[in-house]
Amino acid sequence: MEFSLSDELLGTVMPIVVYWVYSGLYMMFGSYDNYRLHSRQDEHEKNLVTKPTVVKGVLLQQAVQAVVAIILFKVTGDDTDATIGKQSSFIVLARQFLIAMAVLDTWQYMMHRYMHQNKFLYRHIHSQHHRLIVPYAFGALYNHPAEGLLLDTVGGALSFLLSGMSPRASIFFFSFATIKTVDDHCGLWLPGNPFHFFFSNNSAYHDIHHQRFGTKYNFSQPFFVVWDRVLGTHMPYSLEKRAEGGLEARPAKEYKES
Ligand SMILES: [Zn+2]
Ligand SMILES: [Zn+2]
Repeated sequence: MEFSLSDELLGTVMPIVVYWVYSGLYMMFGSYDNYRLHSRQDEHEKNLVTKPTVVKGVLLQQAVQAVVAIILFKVTGDDTDATIGKQSSFIVLARQFLIAMAVLDTWQYMMHRYMHQNKFLYRHIHSQHHRLIVPYAFGALYNHPAEGLLLDTVGGALSFLLSGMSPRASIFFFSFATIKTVDDHCGLWLPGNPFHFFFSNNSAYHDIHHQRFGTKYNFSQPFFVVWDRVLGTHMPYSLEKRAEGGLEARPAKEYKES
């Protein structure tokens, strides 16, 4: 039980540590102007919130989520100790990861899209995330705490429960999902980024959603683009060079103004 408890704690705490370490690394990469998807000037002019406010907002959200996640782990935990000592094979782990990714993506797509359709929810909750027109790494989880709970904590709990993964496996899954979310908001298109190779849902794809013309598209997050494709909200992007240097993700087909 002691090990199980510490895994549950790690499953809650590690994604928070990973968030700040990974986005900290990206802040250092931020000086590579040639790989930015927006100019620094755009970041200052278009974003509706300052960086200190973003840091405070993320920390508040992470604190609320950590408390709820620990309670959820406690409530849903297996007290019989039946799973302790059982080694999971690679195949079983891979299947659990895929199921968890599919569950998290499905939940987040539906809730995210609903938050755009429901004007009340958009105005009072989800618009906070959209104060970052020019996303950057540590702004990834700049959300209203209610959104963090509804999309991330409930989505995480569902993917954990439905995949049947152990608390130990969840440390890796939630850390991976966190890294992916940070990467999608990094605002950079760095050559050789493995996420860009393995996932069509990436920093350029999600950048489209953060633009004023893109808020009706690319709701899928954090892994695949399946739901956008199936439900007709997929907006492909093309990467073009900006005159002042760096790149820009432009919509690659006609779009409806929001
Ligand atoms: Zn949105
Ligand atoms: Zn975002």
